[in-house]
Amino acid sequence: MTARIIDGRARAAALREQVGTHARAFAAAAGRPAGLAVVLVGEDAASAVYVRSKERATEAAGMRGQVHRLPADATQGSLLELVERLNADAGVDGILVQLPLPPHMDADAVIAAIDPDKDVDGFHPVNAGRLATGLPGFVPCTPLGCLMLLREELGDLSGLDAVVIGRSNIVGKPMAQLLIADSCTVTVAHSRTRDLEGVVGRADIVVAAVGRARMIRGEWLKPGATVIDVGINRLPDGSLAGDVDFASAVQVARAITPVPGGVGPMTIACLLRNALMAAHRREGMTPPAGL
Ligand code: NDP
Repeated sequence: MTARIIDGRARAAALREQVGTHARAFAAAAGRPAGLAVVLVGEDAASAVYVRSKERATEAAGMRGQVHRLPADATQGSLLELVERLNADAGVDGILVQLPLPPHMDADAVIAAIDPDKDVDGFHPVNAGRLATGLPGFVPCTPLGCLMLLREELGDLSGLDAVVIGRSNIVGKPMAQLLIADSCTVTVAHSRTRDLEGVVGRADIVVAAVGRARMIRGEWLKPGATVIDVGINRLPDGSLAGDVDFASAVQVARAITPVPGGVGPMTIACLLRNALMAAHRREGMTPPAGL
């Protein structure tokens, strides 16, 4: 068997286009564009690249993107002040503080300061609680993108065995919540899991979010499993690899996301989607269906 390669770039492009259509309709109806503010602290090169591509994608989707840059030695107080200003700004629908923050800053406190109704990253404890309890709120963009790819690939996920490898607040935990909500039987594995190979071998769906290049081997997979590889790992030769050993997994899986070109492009598309949803809610307008 050779797995179908799930084309995250094409799916993300379609989602961005849909968001763009709705964003233009929103701007016409509300008399203003939806607005997304991104805050970048310091000069981390990877973060700067992410922020630039978020800004470009926001503008391309017909929304107003604004980037606020603070120096690496900015105080926590100045960052909190900026967040408060953005919370109060009527033209800002979504606020994203690019992580990681410099070590002298408390990321949890900064996330908690964002208005939960502008928290388009879905990291605020209120939104984590809404997700856990089945209330509408913002879902973190990467797991939301993974869920979209899985639904498109498999249709109804109900009753399937899923393993999520990784339990971070950004990917693993919300991914597990989304799969529970879609009626999967979910196992969450992490660094203390005793028999990872055995756990992976029982799963119809494997979501890998670890940060270790090619750790999950094709031989571990249940034949016909669907594999979503969230990992982005830089190899010594400068190329990128996922957490799954693609060459062996592609022989066993039914479908698999490549790295790059799988989950990554979905993350920004879902951010734009969340910002558009936020704009509709803040204007008391019904959010577009089917996004
Ligand atoms: P974290 O480092 O926060 O979490 C990693 C998780 O992997 C932890 O729960 C850890 O377990 C677990 N883990 C570590 N080693 C093992 C092991 N040997 N066996 C099983 N589990 C293990 O990472 P993130 O969740 O933030 O990100 C994960 C990966 O996804 C990274 O490669 C990151 O770059 C990528 N990523 C990609 C995105 C995209 O847009 N495509 C977006 C976000 C992340 P424990 O909790 O026990 O320590």
